[in-house]
Amino acid sequence: MSGYDLYRFMISIIYPNRCASCGNIIAHNAYFCLDCKPETAEFEIDDGIINCCKYDGIAKDLILNAKFHGNGYAVSGAAKLLYDRLLEANSFSDIDMITYIPSRKTSIRERGYCLTKLMAKDIAALSGKPVLRLLNVSDYKISQKELSREDRKKNLKGVFSAVKYNFCDKRVLLIDDISTTGSTLNEAENVLHENGAKKVIKAVFAKTILKT
Ligand SMILES: [Zn+2]
Repeated sequence: MSGYDLYRFMISIIYPNRCASCGNIIAHNAYFCLDCKPETAEFEIDDGIINCCKYDGIAKDLILNAKFHGNGYAVSGAAKLLYDRLLEANSFSDIDMITYIPSRKTSIRERGYCLTKLMAKDIAALSGKPVLRLLNVSDYKISQKELSREDRKKNLKGVFSAVKYNFCDKRVLLIDDISTTGSTLNEAENVLHENGAKKVIKAVFAKTILKT
């Protein structure tokens, strides 16, 4: 039993472990009951981004539950699926640290947490790699949801900056929860490179389709 497995076992004695989708009690080392596990999308690296699930059905409910309702089982379930996908991609042998797209202050004020940070922490615990916050984000004025692909890029210009921690020549895994055009991940990747990151692997739990 790994340290993280033991931790989950101890927690489950006090708080029984629950399915990330339906909430039924399950074994301490499981994340979903048999009927509820979201289907992972076919493996592909789309626009240089490793995707895990399509933004649809159970996977969509799962990530929205994690993002807007603070459901810890949903957070861990989504993180585990993304971890499995990254294992499949052999990503962990290629990185020194894990980081995430930080939520804007207004979102953290509304929700009380940053989902990508929680997911990155879970993936760090599962993989044994360190998680570090490498990026700051300023509040941009217009929600990305309302914008076209080109306008999304413009809206993000200059919103990310690097923290003072020195990650020069490091290989970084960059995590996001939901991505549509990939512009957020790409902009954050640019900032990491500008500040000396040697390699950036981008990964997202769910990829949506832009309808405009
Ligand atoms: Zn279930």
